[in-house]
Amino acid sequence: MRKLIELTISPKESSKYLNGYPLIPKELLPNWDKVSKEGTILNLLDTQKRFVAKGYYGRQNKGYGWILSTQKSQKIDTNFFGLKIKKALSTRADFFDDKSTTAFRVFNGDGDGIGGLTIDYFDGFYLITWYSMGIYSFRDDIIKALQSEVNYKGIYQKKRFDNNGQYLDQSDDFLLGEEASSPMIVLENNVKFAIYLDDGPMVGVFLDQREVRRCIRDRYAKGKTLLNTFSYTGAFSIFGAIGGASKTTSVDLAKRSRPKTQEHFEINGIDVANQEIIVEDVFNYFKYAIKKNKLFDIVVIDPPSFARSKKHTFSVAKDYTKLLQDVIQITQKNGIIVASTNYANLSMEKFKLFIDKAFKAQNNLYEIEEIFTLPKDFQVLEKFKESNYLKVIFIRKK
Ligand code: SAH
Repeated sequence: MRKLIELTISPKESSKYLNGYPLIPKELLPNWDKVSKEGTILNLLDTQKRFVAKGYYGRQNKGYGWILSTQKSQKIDTNFFGLKIKKALSTRADFFDDKSTTAFRVFNGDGDGIGGLTIDYFDGFYLITWYSMGIYSFRDDIIKALQSEVNYKGIYQKKRFDNNGQYLDQSDDFLLGEEASSPMIVLENNVKFAIYLDDGPMVGVFLDQREVRRCIRDRYAKGKTLLNTFSYTGAFSIFGAIGGASKTTSVDLAKRSRPKTQEHFEINGIDVANQEIIVEDVFNYFKYAIKKNKLFDIVVIDPPSFARSKKHTFSVAKDYTKLLQDVIQITQKNGIIVASTNYANLSMEKFKLFIDKAFKAQNNLYEIEEIFTLPKDFQVLEKFKESNYLKVIFIRKK
């Protein structure tokens, strides 16, 4: 039997949860060890012992659990998860109808009513990602619920939590149905992507940048040179090339980025020989490019929130302004910088300040042309905007 614990919370917290706030922060409880096991149901009561909301205990870096329901009698079972999934699917009906895009998110954690759980769709296959031991403890109910709500070719999973520091078995990514080919090919606005459902924690593409990629292809790339830094599998470069960029240059530190980027060019019928793929620390590349007076029409920067390479540690919060200063120096006059970050603890306002500071330091004027946040399939709760982590700004250098 799943354990249930009652917790009394302050009037201020009660009104927050009655208003739809979804996160249970670490600070809500002085001693989480008493709640023994992740997956324990937490019933939150006000100071008069009246029921406020129920959630579950599951540790993520965001917090220690998520609210699931404000109904006292709500059972957290297959039926409960099924209704949540059904509702989420109905809000993605347009995506299922659109044959030019066959990869999108169908369930986005707290935005769809279950924090710690996402489900992505890849042309008939579903990928469940578990973000804590707590949510993973509901796996039987959630998998059953998904099976009953969708027609699937196959179902895969990723575990994005550590088991008390113990090695997590990643060999059980495949769950049921048919196995997908590796890679399987999906479409995004008619561009092909190679998706690996069973090869490490990431599948090869970040779906949340879909609108940014389309904008680069359809409105900016034609006839331009494009530098894609922190390029991973080259998704921005592919869209640039298909949009008519005269040349793309992709820079990433990871060795695997070269074959993966080549593969992306190849499956889209683009001659790799005309594109440049560089495996190098971006910070070294900037030094080289500045020294050689290299200039690009479009520069994309999409760094991880934190990164450590042999020579550098980088954090978005501390180093983005400096990074932008380098980028400004290698961007053509009237060129475009696509500045992106997925660091949740940085607000859009603060991000704009970083940009302003960098341009001031370089004595350069600029104009903001486009701003993107998460696309519609990455549903975010009105009451919890913090989950809208993505910030992408197209800046024109004057
Ligand atoms: N922009 C990519 C996603 C970037 S993921 C996309 O849209 O698909 C972050 C990437 O940054 C990883 O591939 C990682 O290898 C790379 N990276 C991290 N630190 C780096 C550094 N110092 N220099 C170059 N690449 C780096």
